[in-house]
Amino acid sequence: MDFELNEQQAAFRELIRDFARRSIAPVARQWEHEGRYPTEIIEEMKGLGLFGMLVPEEYGGIGIDAVSYTIVFEELSRVWMGVAGVLGSHSMATHMLASSGTEEQKRRWLPDLASGKRRSGLALTEPNAGSDLQGILSVARREADHYVVNGTKTWITNARHADPLPVLVKTDLDVQPRHRGMSILMIEAGTPGFTVSRDIEKLGYKGPESSEVVLQDCRVPVENLLGGVEGLGLKQALSALEFGRCNVAGRAVGIAQASLDLALAYARERHAFGRPIADFQAIQLKLADMATELQAGRLLTWWAASRLDAGGRADLETGMAKLYASELCIRTSLECMRIHGGYGYSQEFDVERLYRDAPLMAIGEGTNDILRTVIARQLTHGLP
Ligand SMILES: Cc1cc2nc3c(=O)[nH]c(=O)nc-3n(C[C@H](O)[C@H](O)[C@H](O)COP(=O)(O)OP(=O)(O)OC[C@H]3O[C@@H](n4cnc5c(N)ncnc54)[C@H](O)[C@@H]3O)c2cc1C
Repeated sequence: MDFELNEQQAAFRELIRDFARRSIAPVARQWEHEGRYPTEIIEEMKGLGLFGMLVPEEYGGIGIDAVSYTIVFEELSRVWMGVAGVLGSHSMATHMLASSGTEEQKRRWLPDLASGKRRSGLALTEPNAGSDLQGILSVARREADHYVVNGTKTWITNARHADPLPVLVKTDLDVQPRHRGMSILMIEAGTPGFTVSRDIEKLGYKGPESSEVVLQDCRVPVENLLGGVEGLGLKQALSALEFGRCNVAGRAVGIAQASLDLALAYARERHAFGRPIADFQAIQLKLADMATELQAGRLLTWWAASRLDAGGRADLETGMAKLYASELCIRTSLECMRIHGGYGYSQEFDVERLYRDAPLMAIGEGTNDILRTVIARQLTHGLP
């Protein structure tokens, strides 16, 4: 058993780390405060092939393993989590297309999505339903060779840049169990009746937009039904969310690593009572706990990703990784702030951004309490 990255993964980490230091670190604080969209950074990410991380080579992607995929999110989030957000739901959409799309759908969309010429997201949540996805109200009614879609989606990351956007809808309101009446439609930008109505103001995660999407008599061709068969939508979304949980776990580890980096540097440099604060045992205890939890979270994340690489479902593993990494990330960003004293509360330092970005890790891709119920169900009943 070897807990280290292999040579290829380690080299890939260096590449992403170098890119983040060179191209993201110099602008992260300013652009995040301005809520500026990271257009130039995205152009570089296209060159690195990052939009095609989960796209097989035959469709133009780089098809990396899931461990390397989590490393991308860790390294980017160590510098600016918002940038990682641009890749998160895009990658889930490409994974869904690659694993569930028809051959025609894959050939039609994957090459442009892999290059970043087109980008995507994932529209599941509605104003009345997030955790309870079977409670969504968006409905697609079949009319000859089109679906007519009505409903509202909210909190949709990348909504203004997605083309196509996978949208979870109900295609059968009567069937039981309810999930058999759910499908995913790939809705292309500019389709009449598809409107990104507003962007939501947020605590953190600035850079990528989180938007409300209104679907009003939106006519979507039947060939845009993901996989070509109705009733598979919830299953398709849940299997993409396993990759989503690994990316959120990676992001959480990245924020926690940044918190430890900053806390360590500051503790060495800041003096109080005639010595560096790192000499005080109270600070040392915090640093030791932060480093220990961080390493545990990273290894758990790599382990969960390696289970995805092994094939099959990994709800339990990815759920554990996302749950643990996000909770430690919240604790670590707060400890980092405490170690910085008053400066931790200043917008002139990066600490406050880490603290604002951390809580999203406990919400996105399944709230931590929902994940606890998924883990417990597997433990008690062996059910996914
Ligand atoms: C910045 C941001 C970006 C996002 N991006 C996207 C996106 O791109 N696409 C997308 O579809 N969604 C996105 N979301 C939405 C996100 O996935 C949901 O917010 C999340 O799934 C929770 O749903 P909810 O907000 O409706 O909360 P609810 O489901 O209403 O939950 C409220 C509370 O009740 C708890 N709860 C609910 N049911 C149970 C239960 N059975 N047992 C125990 N506790 C329960 C939850 O844990 C939570 O604490 C985003 C959210 C944010 C904040």
